[in-house]
Amino acid sequence: TGEFMPSTPDIQPNRLEIKRNPNPATPPPSNTLVFGHTFVSWAAGAHRHLTRHRVAQTDHMLTIPWDAVSGWGTPEIKPYGPFQMEPSSTVLHYAQTLFEGMKAYRDEHGKVTLFRPDMNMKRMNNSARRIALPTFNGEALIDLIKQLVRLDQHWVPKEPGHSLYVRPTLIGTQKAIGVGPPNEALLFVILSPVGPYYASGFKPIALYGTTEFVRAAPGGTGAYKLGVNYAPGVLPQKAAAALGYAQNLWLHGEEHELTEVGTMNMFVVFSKEDGSTELVTPPLDGMILPGVTRDSVLTLAREHVSGKRLPNLTEKLKVSERRVTMKEVKEAAAAGRLVEMFGAGTAAVISPVNRIGYLGEDVHIPTGEDGMGPVSRPIWTELVGRQWGTIPSEWSVPV
Ligand code: PMP
Repeated sequence: TGEFMPSTPDIQPNRLEIKRNPNPATPPPSNTLVFGHTFVSWAAGAHRHLTRHRVAQTDHMLTIPWDAVSGWGTPEIKPYGPFQMEPSSTVLHYAQTLFEGMKAYRDEHGKVTLFRPDMNMKRMNNSARRIALPTFNGEALIDLIKQLVRLDQHWVPKEPGHSLYVRPTLIGTQKAIGVGPPNEALLFVILSPVGPYYASGFKPIALYGTTEFVRAAPGGTGAYKLGVNYAPGVLPQKAAAALGYAQNLWLHGEEHELTEVGTMNMFVVFSKEDGSTELVTPPLDGMILPGVTRDSVLTLAREHVSGKRLPNLTEKLKVSERRVTMKEVKEAAAAGRLVEMFGAGTAAVISPVNRIGYLGEDVHIPTGEDGMGPVSRPIWTELVGRQWGTIPSEWSVPV
């Protein structure tokens, strides 16, 4: 007699219940918006790190409860507000929490879109699987997120560079002190209007190549967007900021392989002896978060190589997902073969790097006139065009 696993209901958008907020707030003026307090601290370093920025939330949130017996329950959109939770809830003890981050953009005609939300749903389910939280139909959650964004759409700022940050989160809420797969969970989505990461022009950042701390390890959880990966990054971030660096460059292993930058993926560009230009990012080997921006940069670069050319990008481009060590970066810098380096993520899209503090010395990295380099600039232009809807693409999904 085989084991019978009852299949429980998935997320059902048609069961959505909406309770409108009787006291809607006025969205803050766009010029007061910052990109979440963490994001601001990354860019600004030590001083602003100590400032707590209150991030505005919109009027509503989405919640969907789950339990092992009845599966996903009634989705609700209701006024944004605090939860009640028992102190024994497993999320509070064992970090049974994971999240996503994506943005809703308003185009010049007022239309609101999401950027590649299917990628976030895929990653969210992978994260859930990794910590034994329930998985779900990503399409169904996108449907509900669209309804939430539509209800609060006057919170999507109109100004260029501004957007509405969408934060889906899934937590284990079993009331138990034991460690195990929770029999209760809660998925919720909150929204918060954000300003541009770079208010005026690109500001290249300096990185601290840390040899004291690691972000991820082989067989660990670095490839998943779990809460447990982020709290341990705060102390190293403070340490880097105290030394005058905006972010850590996370290194791995004896050869100090470059992995990620703060909470962004990273790219390095080398000019090769054969006259070609190589765009390199570390492979998804279990230590790298599979970023949506990373994938978008790689896709655009590969489309360029295969003949769908991006304006102003060299024809002799090579795209590599491979390991890259500090030795290679240092040698390329010394030989004048380091073209540029940048971080890539939803918050800043592309973040140029001009310096790496490493084992007591600084490795200098070229940056273009406006901060961006010859490879990142054309890719950035195409990417933000597709995000903002000025360049039509399937990546842009109407809300
Ligand atoms: N790495 C880490 C550790 C991150 O937290 C993020 C932000 N989600 C990224 C990379 C970039 O991912 P994305 O492009 O999907 O924002």
